[in-house]
Amino acid sequence: MDNQYFYSYLHKQIPVMIILSLFPGLGYVMLSWMHGIPLRAITWYVGIVLVSIWGYRIYRRYLDNNLSNVQLKLWYKNLKLFYYVFILLWLVIFLLFIPESKSNLHYIAIFTEIGASVVASVLLIPDKKLFKPTVIVLMAPLAIYFLLIGEWYGYVLSIFACVFTWVLIYAAESSHKLLMQTNYLANHDSLTGLKNRYYFINYLQSMMNSLQISNKWSYLLLIDLDHFKTINDSLGHDIGDRLLQQVAARINESKHDDSLLARLGGDEFVIIGIEHDTKEECRAEAEILAEKILVILKESYSIQLHNLFISASIGVSLINGKNNDAGRLIKEADIAMYEAKEHGRDGVIVFDDEMEQRVEYNLEIERLLHFSIENNEISLVYQPQFNEQGKVMGAEALVRWNNENLGEIRPDVFIPIAEKTGSIIVLGRFIMETAFRTLSIWEKSGISIQQFSVNVSMRQFFYYDFVDDVRLLCKEYLTDQTRKKIIFEITESIVAEDVDKVVHIMDEIRLLGIRFSMDDFGTGYSSLSYLKRLPIDEIKIDRSFISELNAGANDQIMVSSILNMAKQFNLTVVSEGVETKDQFELLRSKQCDYYQGFYFSTPLTDSEFQDFYKNN
Ligand code: C2E
Ligand code: CA
Ligand code: CA
Repeated sequence: MDNQYFYSYLHKQIPVMIILSLFPGLGYVMLSWMHGIPLRAITWYVGIVLVSIWGYRIYRRYLDNNLSNVQLKLWYKNLKLFYYVFILLWLVIFLLFIPESKSNLHYIAIFTEIGASVVASVLLIPDKKLFKPTVIVLMAPLAIYFLLIGEWYGYVLSIFACVFTWVLIYAAESSHKLLMQTNYLANHDSLTGLKNRYYFINYLQSMMNSLQISNKWSYLLLIDLDHFKTINDSLGHDIGDRLLQQVAARINESKHDDSLLARLGGDEFVIIGIEHDTKEECRAEAEILAEKILVILKESYSIQLHNLFISASIGVSLINGKNNDAGRLIKEADIAMYEAKEHGRDGVIVFDDEMEQRVEYNLEIERLLHFSIENNEISLVYQPQFNEQGKVMGAEALVRWNNENLGEIRPDVFIPIAEKTGSIIVLGRFIMETAFRTLSIWEKSGISIQQFSVNVSMRQFFYYDFVDDVRLLCKEYLTDQTRKKIIFEITESIVAEDVDKVVHIMDEIRLLGIRFSMDDFGTGYSSLSYLKRLPIDEIKIDRSFISELNAGANDQIMVSSILNMAKQFNLTVVSEGVETKDQFELLRSKQCDYYQGFYFSTPLTDSEFQDFYKNN
């Protein structure tokens, strides 16, 4: 009986029990009145009313919903006492009527006893400790009464009473078993036998309630296996299932006996710890447990002749009474867990204040970004690109976001968030449209640059409608000639995806006349093999190499070799982040094609750019 399910079942029977007593009870008062024993019956009825009021209060108490585990246990104790007392009151009726000489009172007494036993055996099935003693207490006096008649039919009736008692208990036990089974299924995960998500949520809620009262701390560990999908996909679900079972068993062994382990679904497990006095103690305990789990999970598994290895990422959130929102706690652990994944997996991260602030700031950005376009907060600036004679030959469009509350937000901050949430799709389309429109206006007003770069993020690139969008925007704003000036800047992380797919998309875009540039070159997966495979026309040497140019010989070598390699592949090279004359001279001596950076110009607004171009 560790379960709210039973509590709520028994809770629901309280009003039934009260109604079944208050109304028929009046009948008994009337009957006794007719038979001249009103005082005793009225006293009895007053007892029924008082106990009903008590029962009603117990009923209301449960509805508060804020009971801690300890309080719930206490509540249940009270509830049991209430039921015992109520049943005893019905025994009193029997004892009241049976000594009377009139035989019709005997019939009433006998019927009352049988009726009360049936009610007890039906309503109290969740708890054996309730239905067994109550049925016996109600039926035993009846059997004795029959026995005391002293005639043969009395003996027979006494035996019947015993048999009837047995039948009632037997029926109640069968229902009890069934109830236990459904309850087990409702609360357990069938694969691992651990508690399931449903149970976990209820447990977490009651844990938070008790922490609110005790002012103590506990923790929530969210354990997610790394690359479990690969095992499932390559070796089959059968082996995947076995692995999950073994993982469950290992975690179960390493945790504290009194803490709760549940499987949330898939390869996600969760532990709720016991209560700790201080936050520090709690955090330390959580970290020790998490590390322990990481270690035991990494030992090899042998399943059907396969030797498998797997690691896990664990996110921890600390629970105390102040944070009384189950959904939020789980989310925190989830954020920490993903952070662990991002830090290379096989690790533990505890959700802390710093992370919370970051998450809140990011959420705020996410929210405001949503309205940024319609509120006219997004604009583009254009950074000129120069040839070795210092003549403007191109431009890169860069996005700017100016929000009323947050001020200027840097693209390095909001672009990754837009990527994560998917708003980059709408934003990226808006940027592309603005950029195309600007280029076509420039063309018409005699600002004729050779190339015009637009940054395209990964998620935008892989969006199923991307190619169609580009095609449509080209049709709307650009002539066949101006399209050839557009360059899409992509980053090296794109090669982590399915390269064939990447090439396919690039080819479709290239059919429109648009070219590609590899942005931030040298910072990512830089490898010759993909340079060969991807249809790119340009690379942009990342500004981190340029800024170190004067200082380190290594960066000079790096830049030289990028330039040499680019020549081999027939690629144009743009150096970005050129800030000083020295850097420019050095790059020029190595025959870099184009230059972009503060040395020449910062990014400019549309009209600033037009002026700059005319004066150049
Ligand atoms: P990026 O594509 O590498 O853009 C170049 C960044 O370097 C720009 O920062 C630019 O202002 C800055 N920069 C240019 N010259 C210099 C210099 O001489 N010294 C230094 N220290 N910095 C220089 P910005 O505009 O803040 O953009 C940052 C990043 O945000 C961009 O890096 C790009 O990854 C992303 N981003 C910007 N605009 C867009 C956009 O329209 N779409 C997408 N998807 N990403 C964008
Ligand atoms: Ca760029
Ligand atoms: Ca760049």
